[in-house]
Amino acid sequence: MRRFRLGDVECDEEDEAFQGLVLQAHGSKVRLLCLCRPSGIPMYIADIGSQLVVKRMPLTGGDHDPTCPSHEPPYELTGLGPLVNTAIKLDASAGIASLKLDFPLSKQTGSRNGIATTHAADSVKSEARKLSLRSLLHLLWHEGGLTEWTSRWTGRRHWWQVYHHLSQAARMMEIRGESLGERLYIPEPFRADDKAAIEQRRAGKLSGLYQPSEGRKKLMLLIGEIKEFGSARSGKQLVVKHMPGFRLHLEEAGWRALQRRFETELRLWESGQDGHLIAISTVAGSAGGLATVNEIALMAVTGQWLPMESVSEQRLLDHLARSTSKSVKGLRFNLPRDQPIANAILPDLKPKPMALYIVPAGADATFETTLRDMIAARPDLSAWVWRVAEGDLPSLPGLDEENYRSTGPSRSPS
Ligand SMILES: [Zn+2]
Repeated sequence: MRRFRLGDVECDEEDEAFQGLVLQAHGSKVRLLCLCRPSGIPMYIADIGSQLVVKRMPLTGGDHDPTCPSHEPPYELTGLGPLVNTAIKLDASAGIASLKLDFPLSKQTGSRNGIATTHAADSVKSEARKLSLRSLLHLLWHEGGLTEWTSRWTGRRHWWQVYHHLSQAARMMEIRGESLGERLYIPEPFRADDKAAIEQRRAGKLSGLYQPSEGRKKLMLLIGEIKEFGSARSGKQLVVKHMPGFRLHLEEAGWRALQRRFETELRLWESGQDGHLIAISTVAGSAGGLATVNEIALMAVTGQWLPMESVSEQRLLDHLARSTSKSVKGLRFNLPRDQPIANAILPDLKPKPMALYIVPAGADATFETTLRDMIAARPDLSAWVWRVAEGDLPSLPGLDEENYRSTGPSRSPS
């Protein structure tokens, strides 16, 4: 349980007076402080679908005491580490993260669309300096808290929650002084009885696509769940859930590049029962009110909306999904697949939090060396390693298995 201070008033989050304190902090210039540390750590009040929620400021999870619910596992175990203070810079007083992107948000009028999946997003070169399209999606997912899971939330995470948490995270980020929230469209959960108003809001938000200024066209960012890749005379029509009537055109060359570059994501989506496929795209407007993909990246997520990048991760997440122990999914951001990351972290495990690592079949000696160094650098965490080439998922000691029923054979940890 957290304890907070506002001005000179202190209270626990379970006290009756707490909601009053939150209301007072909302819209006030004074920051609510989490008192897990004596000096207090500034928090902000988020409006999540008309409910006020106390959230940590971007990238401040490491400042909280390890026992505080606002604490976050160390960033250097995932692809986020190399980006902090380089591609992502935090203005601590405003609580706003400013981002450097390695893809454009405008283009010359009359120019053709680029190949949709430009940038080897995981190339080593761009690792630390700028965010790729996929990295931006990973950052929003991470900051929105959508990488966290416990089985207590089973059945309680839907597009409604994803939409609100991503939107809130985007409001805490800016690109060259412009709020990311202004440049990003995420379809709101569609309700037939609110159709006209929803379509009007959508048209308003996307209207910038059709107003070039000084010879340049503005591109919008779009994040949505893919319903299907519909056929078109050439290329594909992307059908996005919660956007009935909206079609996003992807040129043939872009579609071919997408299939190559995101083959794994497409396979995971096609083979899964309850997973979803998330797209992030820069979108350009063209004559006649059409919207066209300029650049696109895909991310496969589980039924719990947890990002996965391989069949092994899918297997691990499926296992963790049924445990009451909290888990935090680690994301790759710009890092290439031949580098280890903590695929997940169990922050509340006793006696120590545990980092979970998957060594893919075919990993080379460099992978193992880097992994050994990563584990050695964090003696405050225990490590669990699954070498896929050696067999099925080893057992996970200490995991709270209250709601857990094993579906597969388990082995002793390697
Ligand atoms: Zn705290």
